[in-house]
Amino acid sequence: MQIKAPRGTCDILPSDAAKWNAVETIMREKAALFGFHEVRTPIFEHTELFQRGVGETTDIVSKEMYTFDDRGGRSITLRPEGTASCVRSFVEHSLFSGALPVKWFYMGPMFRYDRPQAGRFRQFHQFGVEAFGSNSPYLDAEVITLMVEIVQALGIETYELHLNSVGCPTCRQHYREKLIEFLKPMEKQLCKDCQERLYKNPLRVLDCKVPTCQEAIQGFPVMADYLCDACRIHYTAVQEALAINQIRYIQDHQLVRGLDYYTNTAFEILLPDLGAQSAVGGGGRYNGLIQEIGGPNMPGIGFALGIERLLLAREASGTAMETEKSLDVFVALQRADYRSIALEIVNELRKKQFSADKDYQDRSMKAQMKYAGKIGARVVLIIGDEEVVSGQFTLRNMGTGEQVRVGKNEMVQTLNEMLHAR
Ligand SMILES: [Zn+2]
Ligand SMILES: [Zn+2]
Repeated sequence: MQIKAPRGTCDILPSDAAKWNAVETIMREKAALFGFHEVRTPIFEHTELFQRGVGETTDIVSKEMYTFDDRGGRSITLRPEGTASCVRSFVEHSLFSGALPVKWFYMGPMFRYDRPQAGRFRQFHQFGVEAFGSNSPYLDAEVITLMVEIVQALGIETYELHLNSVGCPTCRQHYREKLIEFLKPMEKQLCKDCQERLYKNPLRVLDCKVPTCQEAIQGFPVMADYLCDACRIHYTAVQEALAINQIRYIQDHQLVRGLDYYTNTAFEILLPDLGAQSAVGGGGRYNGLIQEIGGPNMPGIGFALGIERLLLAREASGTAMETEKSLDVFVALQRADYRSIALEIVNELRKKQFSADKDYQDRSMKAQMKYAGKIGARVVLIIGDEEVVSGQFTLRNMGTGEQVRVGKNEMVQTLNEMLHAR
């Protein structure tokens, strides 16, 4: 029986890899411009890290993790997101006692057992940044600006930045009580999940997508009205810095992150063109997380972007034009006997930084030319009887059909001219 890739995974074939590389390059370059450095953490971690770092009550931890016991009987989980691992690494290497803030970015596959749909996979890819050790609102603005600039640099013009503050544990507690008081009379109208959330995690009722819940919460009290002085000053400073950076945003009172270690700034990027589930990334402050994972009481902030969904949006906006890099030179030989001459030439070309390949199937000259056309080779170098006798090789420009004969000494020069003419 034929084996297929597991549901919710996909192959990135060479024809798509160029688009991935382009996106990843833009992300790396932007992050570097903002002073972020790459970190690579393991793809699997102890399950407990995500239980603590993502939160047991979240859908991710309660329903979507790939968790298994390894052969040593340890509970292992394929990372469902990047922040917990970064924090673990930051704490494990005691970087909190070095120069602060520490600014990291990461990129790679994440795993969630979710219902696959357009742009959503069980193995999916994220780019994210984390900044540890500073509570400056200007750092919030900087992180948000980086996220927006990446989306812009990808050529995606239609996006919305949503912004909110979820306060600190103190003012949020007060807000929580007000919210429960407000929602209580509507309890019966809420979906089953929200009825459960109502007392455990009422803020999460606000971001429930079920229409009856959206209806029930009409006129809900907003966090912005309950922020304590420190949180309000922080939020105002973030907004002022965003204005200086010329980043436009929508104040979104329903944007909440329901866990205690999330504090102050919360943000999300939406791509309306992608339809209902249009969030492509988001993040916020998590001043309680580093301590939650066993580190000192130290602030942090970060975001993550979903690469698959950004690729979809780029495709839709017509900016994803990258194609596979084609072969510079294909060496075609008239007789199998010329194999060693062909090998020498291929080796020589590769040393000179031209991508080069040759026939391996002992095909006819005609079949070799056809193959070279199919793989998109830009120049074919022909080794025929005449060429071997004269020591002059024929170079055929596959784009124009033009042919020239050159000796070995002029080969590099001529190839450079042909390849860079376009
Ligand atoms: Zn507060
Ligand atoms: Zn609901």
